[in-house]
Amino acid sequence: MSVVTRFAPSPTGYLHIGGARTALYCWLHAQKHKGEFVLRIEDTDRERSTDDAVQAILDGMDWLGLNHTQGPFYQTQRFDRYKEVTEQLIESGNAYPCFCSKERLDSLRETQMENKQKPRYDGKCRNLSSDEIDLSKPHVIRFKNPESGSVKWIDAVKGEIEFSNTELDDLIIARTDGSPTYNFTVVVDDWDMKITQVVRGDDHVNNTPRQINIFKALGVEHPEYAHVPMILGDDGKKLSKRRNSVSVMDYRDQGYLPEAVLNYLVRLGWSHGDQEIFSLDEMISLFDIHDINRAASAFNTEKLNWLNQHYIKTLPVERVIEALNWQIEHQGLSTQNGPALNELVPLFAERVHTLKELAQSIIYFYNDFEEFDAAAAKKHLRPVAKEALQLAYEKLTSLSEWTASNIQSVIDQTAEELNVGMGKVGMPLRVAVTGAGQSPNLDVTILHIGKERSLKRIEKALAFIEQREQAG
Ligand code: GLU
Repeated sequence: MSVVTRFAPSPTGYLHIGGARTALYCWLHAQKHKGEFVLRIEDTDRERSTDDAVQAILDGMDWLGLNHTQGPFYQTQRFDRYKEVTEQLIESGNAYPCFCSKERLDSLRETQMENKQKPRYDGKCRNLSSDEIDLSKPHVIRFKNPESGSVKWIDAVKGEIEFSNTELDDLIIARTDGSPTYNFTVVVDDWDMKITQVVRGDDHVNNTPRQINIFKALGVEHPEYAHVPMILGDDGKKLSKRRNSVSVMDYRDQGYLPEAVLNYLVRLGWSHGDQEIFSLDEMISLFDIHDINRAASAFNTEKLNWLNQHYIKTLPVERVIEALNWQIEHQGLSTQNGPALNELVPLFAERVHTLKELAQSIIYFYNDFEEFDAAAAKKHLRPVAKEALQLAYEKLTSLSEWTASNIQSVIDQTAEELNVGMGKVGMPLRVAVTGAGQSPNLDVTILHIGKERSLKRIEKALAFIEQREQAG
């Protein structure tokens, strides 16, 4: 049987990080077995589902590169099919109309709660005779869950799981208005779409016995299930929108590469020895749903940062630039007037963890800064630095060839001639040309800032020092 997996989000919000991990695991399993990956939009909750959320999910999947081979299928477009299967279950005696009023069900629930029983439907309409059935009256359709025995499955992640049928009541599969309910649509879809492995969050474990019973009533085999434990925040608590970045697109906005996010997500709940870095090909060949961790995994921003830097350093520079350009545009920056980005990326790769930091770190190569960083200027643009700056300025002005080695010689010679340490020349110069106290090596930094711009900035620094002197 060829492998078919599916990712089945409900479009009630953006694609969150837990959903993305589930999608990745489904995608990897399909890729590994050269199977199909279905995208299914579970939009039957019409009040909470929105077109924007559908788009956000599609965008998130696209950004991560988790391409589906079938779909997207929308459950709201399959109502006729759900109806057909509902009829089939009624005809085979596995489902029945229930006429119980809301009042009756409420008072049943109340009594059960008072008696410390688990609230469940008591089966009043389970065995109505044909003259007790009047389909013109408001009714729901319930699935006839077996009354005894148990449901058991070997979960690919959690091992054997068993539920007694007495814990499950007769689930509503169609509401009064005829609309189908979640556990039922999932079964019909998983069946029709020939899903072989259901990988999903373990918040669905309690739904699985109900779904398996419906499969059994339909006389079809159920897929294999793999219930993935949840993701906890850095603080060990459940991920929350308030405390954590949970939308996948937030990670793009913050300057993470999809390559890093995928690598991070694959490890968040799965491991292969102590290997941390996985190319997509490696993930595909090594990943196995049976090796997914049983325990919940905690988010670790430091590790994500480390991985992101790894990919900034090691991906082909054109790829990093593609993502960096998005970030530059997103931040409203411009890199029109200055060096080619492929000159700068290698210089900064060791110094930044995200493309956002990278974009902000290179601004001074393209745009003049308004003011020197106050702390750096206070420390390094002092009267004692004037002589060094002046001499370096003259030497730089007369350089005929603007190369890194010539610029380095200027710095060296200035220090030598003034008989001062390199730092006494380098630091004022760095603050003068970059506006701040930190940058890559000064020779290449000055090289890429360019001659005219560097000289203008040194003039500005000298004027700054003078002003400072006058101010006393
Ligand atoms: N639509 C469900 C959810 O977003 C997933 C259902 C499933 O994977 O079976 O939680």
